[in-house]
Order: sequence, then C-alpha cells, then structure tokens
Amino acid sequence: MVPDWRLKVSTPDFVICLECESPIYTFEWDGSRVKEALCPTCGNDQNTLFSTEEEYEEMSSAHESTYGPSKD
Ligand SMILES: [Zn+2]
Repeated sequence: MVPDWRLKVSTPDFVICLECESPIYTFEWDGSRVKEALCPTCGNDQNTLFSTEEEYEEMSSAHESTYGPSKD
C-alpha cells in the first residue's frame, strides 16, 4: 500500500525520452520534474525532452483522441 503523500513527492522509476521514446533509469529529479537526464539511445540531454510515464501516457491518449486509434 502506498500512502497518498508518496505519490506526490516520490521520484518516478524512470522517465521517457521524448526524442526516441526510450525509458531512462538514470536521471535527476527535482521533486516535480526532470532536472537532468541523458538518453543513451539518442544522446538527448535536454531535461525538457524527458517526461514521466504518466505524462507520456496522457500525451499519447490525447494524441489518440485527436487522430483516432492507430491503424497499424
Ligand atoms: Zn532518446
């Protein structure tokens, strides 16, 4: 069981590189956002180009509702 306060202050297990969509497990978290990270896959090191899984899923679901389900 996870107490509510932990959800707000805990560091995520990983963040997602928005450049190549890889999970990054080594990063610095400042309490609410990514402070520093480096993507070993594409070399992205801009903290604004990393997102938490939660934010990332919000973005992809927003994308889906705009364009409909992908027809791969
Ligand atoms: Zn990357």
